Amino acid sequence: MDVKDRRKTTIADIYVQLPGRDCGITRPPSPCGLKKCVMFAQALLDGEKKMDECPYLDGEHKGAIALILEAYFK
Ligand code: SF4
Repeated sequence: MDVKDRRKTTIADIYVQLPGRDCGITRPPSPCGLKKCVMFAQALLDGEKKMDECPYLDGEHKGAIALILEAYFK
């Protein structure tokens, strides 16, 4: 898998762990400051956001995302 595909796949993997509320569209302003959860997934991967910035993300999903990020940067 090339770098671009790996990034896309990882963002998708993170995204499925997120609440999927897309608060910036469904109920603005969003607590994370972004329109959609997929943008939050990208920002997590890029280190621009922290998981705590989404108040709807529970510990189980945070743990899963931490493992995804760990594997990506390993
Ligand atoms: S606050 Fe959470 S649920 Fe809402 S858009 Fe951001 S990442 Fe998605």
